[in-house]
Amino acid sequence: MAVKDTKALTPMMAQYLEIREQAGDALLFYRMGDFYELFFDDAVKAAAALDITLTRRGQHQGDPIPMCGVPHHSHENYLARLIRAGFKVAICEQTEDPAEAKKRGSKSVVRREIVRFVTPGTLTEDSLLEARSHNFLAALHAPKTGAGALAWADVSSGELCVATVTADTLGSQLAALTPKELLTPEAPGEEWIAALDTLGDETCVTPQARTFFDVANAEERLCDLYKVQALDAFGTFARSEIAALGALAAYIELTQVGRMPALKPPRHPARGAAMAIDAVTRTSLELTRTQRGDRDGSLLAAIDRTVSGAGARLLSDWMAGPLTDIDAIRRRQQAIAWLVEARTLRGDIRERLAATPDIARALSRLALGRGGPRDLAALRDGLIAARELCELLHGAADEAPLDAPMAAMLQEAMCDLEAQSSGGFADLLRLLKKSLAEDLPLLARDGGFIAAGYDPGLDETRGLRDNARRVIAGLEDQYRQKAGIKALKIKHNNVLGYFVEAPASHADTLMGAPHSDLFIHRQTLANAVRFTTVELSDLDSRIVRSRDTALAREMELFGDLCGKTIARAGDIAACADGLALIDVCAGLAGLAEAQDYVRPQVDDSFAFAITGGRHPVVEQTVARAGEGAFIPNDCRLTRDEDPSLWLVTGPNMAGKSTFLRQNALIAILAQMGSFVPAKSAHIGVIDRVFSRVGASDDLARGRSTFMVEMVETAAILNQASERSLVVLDEIGRGTATYDGLSIAWAALEHLHEINKCRGLFATHYHELTALSSRLDRLDNVSMQVREWKGDVVFLHEVAEGPADRSYGVSVGRLAGLPPAVVARAQEVLSLLEEGKVASSAGLSTLVDDLPLFSAAAAAPKPPADSPALKALADIDPDSLSPREALEALYALKEMT
Ligand code: ADP
Repeated sequence: MAVKDTKALTPMMAQYLEIREQAGDALLFYRMGDFYELFFDDAVKAAAALDITLTRRGQHQGDPIPMCGVPHHSHENYLARLIRAGFKVAICEQTEDPAEAKKRGSKSVVRREIVRFVTPGTLTEDSLLEARSHNFLAALHAPKTGAGALAWADVSSGELCVATVTADTLGSQLAALTPKELLTPEAPGEEWIAALDTLGDETCVTPQARTFFDVANAEERLCDLYKVQALDAFGTFARSEIAALGALAAYIELTQVGRMPALKPPRHPARGAAMAIDAVTRTSLELTRTQRGDRDGSLLAAIDRTVSGAGARLLSDWMAGPLTDIDAIRRRQQAIAWLVEARTLRGDIRERLAATPDIARALSRLALGRGGPRDLAALRDGLIAARELCELLHGAADEAPLDAPMAAMLQEAMCDLEAQSSGGFADLLRLLKKSLAEDLPLLARDGGFIAAGYDPGLDETRGLRDNARRVIAGLEDQYRQKAGIKALKIKHNNVLGYFVEAPASHADTLMGAPHSDLFIHRQTLANAVRFTTVELSDLDSRIVRSRDTALAREMELFGDLCGKTIARAGDIAACADGLALIDVCAGLAGLAEAQDYVRPQVDDSFAFAITGGRHPVVEQTVARAGEGAFIPNDCRLTRDEDPSLWLVTGPNMAGKSTFLRQNALIAILAQMGSFVPAKSAHIGVIDRVFSRVGASDDLARGRSTFMVEMVETAAILNQASERSLVVLDEIGRGTATYDGLSIAWAALEHLHEINKCRGLFATHYHELTALSSRLDRLDNVSMQVREWKGDVVFLHEVAEGPADRSYGVSVGRLAGLPPAVVARAQEVLSLLEEGKVASSAGLSTLVDDLPLFSAAAAAPKPPADSPALKALADIDPDSLSPREALEALYALKEMT
């Protein structure tokens, strides 16, 4: 839409085009009365995305202007759909009263300004956010040389973090975070692009000019934001980190048009304190989504028993970055253990938390000037709940009905709550309790949210208004008597205000003397006439005036309440964190009890000793489906206190993948601080978990199955340390047998000799089992299978030693291969196993010796000596009467 010629423009179009220019790549929601209108290309795009009607309005440079609109009162719904479809939206409001504009002249247009850009990473409305997950906005500073930095914020709750990243570690950072929007420099270097390529669809990438990441500007902007002289107040930040933080702050400022949310001071996520889990591992282990992309069936869904949005978000944080700091892990365990014991208390806590509003998000909306009276009420109720929770926990701790000492971490959370809620928040709470009315409107400008008795001025104005209403009610009676018309009524509408209405049959009476002195005619309808009186219109304007005065006063009081609340933003945020923490601990305690989890021993050894381990997700699925019990299995990946490897063999469907993954998941749960599905568990802290499943085609990215597999295997062999846990499932199956076998072989040797890590390696190459005689820290185990009446039965038990054979043909039968194919496969297999085909010459003999598979052989044939067949042969159809034919048919049927 290149419009340079502005001469012929109407004033409104000139204004529109100017603002359109400011909106950049966002769609412009241009406010006109009760609608947001979109024009030109914006209209075409939005109408298609929202499936709404595209119309035309006026002309621009000879062409009709495409237009569509969404009603203001329901615009959030449309916004949500546009944002989900990947659009950004600039909201342009009327920023003056149309009456003001008229004063400037009949042609002047109402002033309009963009008040906000809505982008995927800067949402705050509950209707646009998912309650149970974070909404991160991230910024990447990617310098030409050296390390860069990633900063991220949750605008809806004020979290702000920054970490140094390299092109190698960026992928796993982004995978842990899954930001909704990522700001990058316009042309990042090659090495960064590779990491950015791993981003999934849920992240919208927004490139920004390099100047956006300028360090000097960044520092100034951040100091301004936090009103400090130097950033050192918050810790030491690398230059690159400051640049990333600055870009983030600049973008928030830009999109919120000057209004900043209550961002907490930036912090480093404890350096090196998180277990690294790269994107492929997260996908393969189905941590937060299944491979098909559903939340149901993921580890997170299986263990999430939190009852609040903030709790669910914190739990997903815990899962995104399990800890490596043993003390921190133990502190979490202790809190959970304490709550496992305190069952009744836990029930009470959860009940209360479930009814607690999302105070972090309410606070951020208020800080952005986007909050309403209900957000204030949410804070009031949240703070009250915090105090009650504190009392509950305290009561329980004082009575000391539990053996375990009060968990340190809960105590900390409680201290936070207590310091803030009982003493610290008393004034604010009193204020909010006293000021807010019972029923609250969504928007402050709808008025009526300040409680009676809070502000004398407001009460007086409201008194005048109510009084005037009462007087009006009295007038109705008076007028009825004066006019002698029983059906006379005083009514109200937006056009006339208050008016007197009488049936049309009384029109003449009222318009004639003496009534015409009192009643001033306003309107005649088909069956009614309407009048006003001097007194009535006087009262009407008094009501309007007092309503306006009351609303103005309410808005003033609202601003004051918001100001006082925001002044305590830091404390309120700490309180919200405390509530979320208690929710997560209580949820994990509930899970531990319901699913019979155990507290793992986590230390700095190389132990990996799980007895009776179960898969946290499959276990629940099996139970739900009523398919019998999940079979627990042990796993021991240490030999003489050194890391060791297990080579797992067994037929398909025997449970290899389940076993491999369950151990990786147990490690992750343990380092999240959670209890684990096992009888006992001892785990020496793991720095990284790697999990790979033999190739599935990644056609979307144009890489062959085998290439993907090799790239991933290379990443593991290059990165795994002796503290890592590696889980490889059927690596090498994407290529020809001998290639695959050789690669699996070499990879296993590398893990054993070079990486020296703990690991589980599942394979269908039986040849590999021989390696255990040469590699002293490699053990063979196999999934147990029994044959019963010619069928295989999977026991799902892990036993020492390699599998005796692979049962592939039997599994084929179970899967419903045609019997002829099964028989033929069995035949070929026997010959292969007898070693008759060791060479290609042998193979051609095999081809010659065995009768070829034929369609005839595949069709089921009745046995040759069947009596039914004999009887059939004896029948001469031509000599049979219809009745005899029928009898013969019955006889034949009898024989089969
Ligand atoms: P493999 O990797 O050997 O082909 P899987 O791990 O995919 O086998 O397991 C196949 C199915 O067997 C799973 O879908 C699961 O339902 C069931 N299963 C696996 N392990 C167990 C177990 N320990 N107890 C009960 N059922 C199991």
